[in-house]
Order: sequence, then C-alpha cells, then structure tokens
Amino acid sequence: MLKYSSKLIADAVTEFTKLPGIGEKTALRLVIHLLKQDKEKVKQFGDVVTKMRHDIQYCKTCHNISDHELCSVCSNKMREQSIICVVENFRDVIAIENTEIFRGTYHVLGGIISPIDGIGPEQLNVESLLMRVKEQGVKEVLMALSPTIEGDTTVFYLSKRLQPFGITVTTIARGVAFGGELEYTDELTLARSIATRVPYENALVKSSTS
Ligand SMILES: [Zn+2]
Repeated sequence: MLKYSSKLIADAVTEFTKLPGIGEKTALRLVIHLLKQDKEKVKQFGDVVTKMRHDIQYCKTCHNISDHELCSVCSNKMREQSIICVVENFRDVIAIENTEIFRGTYHVLGGIISPIDGIGPEQLNVESLLMRVKEQGVKEVLMALSPTIEGDTTVFYLSKRLQPFGITVTTIARGVAFGGELEYTDELTLARSIATRVPYENALVKSSTS
C-alpha cells in the first residue's frame, strides 16, 4: 500500500480497492476525483449506493431483482404469462431484455447445478418454477442457460422435473456467433450447430416480432 498523509484518504482508497477490477492506483484516482466534486454531489453518490443495497428486493414470483414485491416484468400485463424463460441469474435477464425480442416472463434459478461447487437442485429456485408451471397455465419453458456441462446438466434435470406437466420445453439455439467465421468456430459449437439445424425461414429473425 502507498503511504498517505491522510487516514481519511487511505480509508477511502481501501474501500475502493475492494471493488472488482480496481487496483490501488485506480482507487486513488477515483478518490481524488470525488475530492474535487461538490460535497452535495458526493453525498448523492453515497446515498444512491446505500439506498440501492438497502431497498433492493427479489421478485416473489420469478426471483429477479426488483424495486417492489413483483418485478417490472411480472407486473407488466402485456407480458405473456404462458411462457417462462429460465435463466441462471438476473444479469441474464438484463441481457435478454435488451434484445427486446422476448415477450414472456422469466424465472431466475440463482445458479446452475454444479457438483464440484457443491450446488445441487435444492440450492436453486426449482420448486417455485414447478409451482408456477402448475398454477399459471404455462405452455412453454424456454431454457436459456450457458452452453456448458453444468448448464446442460441443469437443463436435463429441469426437463425431467417438467415432464409430468406435458408442456413444451425448448432451449436457446446454440450455434455459430453472428459475424463469426466458420473455419474459426470450435468443433463442438460447429457440430452442435449442424445437429440442431433449423429450417431456413426459422433462422431469419423477423424485426416485427414483439
Ligand atoms: Zn418477477
């Protein structure tokens, strides 16, 4: 740690270095930046962070982060309740929402099955998903999980648990990245893309879809 003539500065720098990706020099730069701001502006910065941490809730239906008991997706009457997109965490919700192509609702698992990390189905929001499917008139569950061993294991487990309900279970397509060159695509992705090929008209994303 660098030497500081002020303990107040040193303490602030220490707090910033606790953030991911922030080294001591960057932390010092941020602290100096704040030091140059109006006191009122800095107070607002602190207040917003404190309020965010204190007031944030998890949606009681889908477990997404929320400002209220129900998140903005679940409380939106325009969203189709009959389709649930299953994701690992709320960052995935943000990513999919920003595509503006999905009009259903979500279910945030809170992780994926990973025996190495000691995460089993009982640690995830599985029972509440089954409850929703049972009570909400769900027709389709779309699995939008990472294309990894853990993601596949989770999809397999969930599809088995969903089987008795007789609904459609789909997964996001896994394929060659848009703008990517075929010859540089890894073999597993390329093999999967061929195995899960789709009719040409289905491959075109209609811009009018909403
Ligand atoms: Zn919700």
